[in-house]
Amino acid sequence: MNDRAGQAVQLPDLWRDPSPAAGCDVCEALARQRVAAYAVGDRSKVSDCNVEIRRHPHRV
Ligand SMILES: [Zn+2]
Repeated sequence: MNDRAGQAVQLPDLWRDPSPAAGCDVCEALARQRVAAYAVGDRSKVSDCNVEIRRHPHRV
């Protein structure tokens, strides 16, 4: 049977949206893309943006 709707279980962590770093253009752009992805219901794009925001290095 085709069961594509029930895709792989995602880590709970992926459902939490990381905040973009304040003052970081890259993070802000990603956050904007994420909003746009939400607007069209593109969950995989949302995850992509979240991953990139999380991975973006910043000095602490
Ligand atoms: Zn950043």
